Amino acid sequence: MEKELLLMLPGPVPMPERVRYAMMRQAINHRSAEFGAVYADCVRVLKTVFQTVNDLFVISGSGTAGMEAAVANFGRDIDIACLVNGKFGERLYKISQRYGRAHLIASEWGTPLNLEELEVKLEQGARMVTLVHNETSAGIKNPAEEVGRLARKHDALFVMDGITSIGGDTVETDRWGVDIAIVGSQKCLAAPAGLAAVSVSSRAWERLTKNPPYYLDLAAYRKSASGKPMETPYTPAVPLFLALREACLIIDEEGITHRIARHKRMADAVRSAANAWGLSLFPVLDQNHAYSNTATAIVYPGGVKDSEVRDTVKKMGIIIAGGQDHLKGKIFRIGTMGAIGAPELLATLAAVQHGLKKAGYQVQGDGVEAACEVLG
Ligand SMILES: *Cc1c(COP(=O)(O)O)cnc(C)c1O
Repeated sequence: MEKELLLMLPGPVPMPERVRYAMMRQAINHRSAEFGAVYADCVRVLKTVFQTVNDLFVISGSGTAGMEAAVANFGRDIDIACLVNGKFGERLYKISQRYGRAHLIASEWGTPLNLEELEVKLEQGARMVTLVHNETSAGIKNPAEEVGRLARKHDALFVMDGITSIGGDTVETDRWGVDIAIVGSQKCLAAPAGLAAVSVSSRAWERLTKNPPYYLDLAAYRKSASGKPMETPYTPAVPLFLALREACLIIDEEGITHRIARHKRMADAVRSAANAWGLSLFPVLDQNHAYSNTATAIVYPGGVKDSEVRDTVKKMGIIIAGGQDHLKGKIFRIGTMGAIGAPELLATLAAVQHGLKKAGYQVQGDGVEAACEVLG
């Protein structure tokens, strides 16, 4: 077997031992009180993590299944304003094109969203707004609360991809007026890949399409979840639910406030390291936007080859991410999501520092020392 690598990616992330063991057992019937209790535990904890009293369902499918469920159930044949400043914003736009009349409101990746144009689209009759809260491809955190305020003012539904913020950063689904919020299992929740959770407001239920998808029919999810025991419409990915339940119990034990503070401290440490090295962070911010607390995107200095740096880091057993699409070779990204802490992060930063040096970049200062100052 190949040696286990430390995944410091913006998902998937390392899973605590308890989470891994939870999957390692004989099959159980998904139409049983035992499974119902597993699902109920997931929903109970996830509602506190989402900060919502809305309905919440767990779908067998990755984060993108949650994104598609949101648009396909509530966005069919209506005008959808899609805010885009990165790869996942683009994905929500492409999904919206399949089901509704999608209007692209594009900014360069990692730069502020155009909220004036959003208001124009809302005044022109957009009935849904899509937003990626934490744009993982660019390391930027978008102003969800402000977008929620604008959507509410114009009576549009607000769909928020919280896939890499929920469970790792502050998200207030109800207070921000998020009608459909989405998280993926393999990011800040530190569970295995393959599940998505989706919350649905009563305002959204009133606008349910008459022509829903079959497998991702959220009304069917609602019906099955309301029974005793709680169920899903079709056979769910039971082993993943068992693992997700354990991951949720761990979140409950840590406490969401502590968890968010830990994520923020880790991202602070990465930013301090980049600063010490003399490297720039990729996002361009204004007063509404912020650096991501779960994935940090750093710009390569001129002449430094992405493959050289990441190969050196990989030789030390650690995987970090490069840039996606047109950012390939231009940036690298360090995920600070889930259950990891100072030991994993310091090893990663030491390896990256070495990788930068080997690739020919003379770091200005000691990034590992700078990170220790934050973490210690
Ligand atoms: C990872 C990610 C997704 C996609 O999730 P999959 O689990 O790969 O389907 C969507 N949005 C954001 C912001 C992500 O980081």
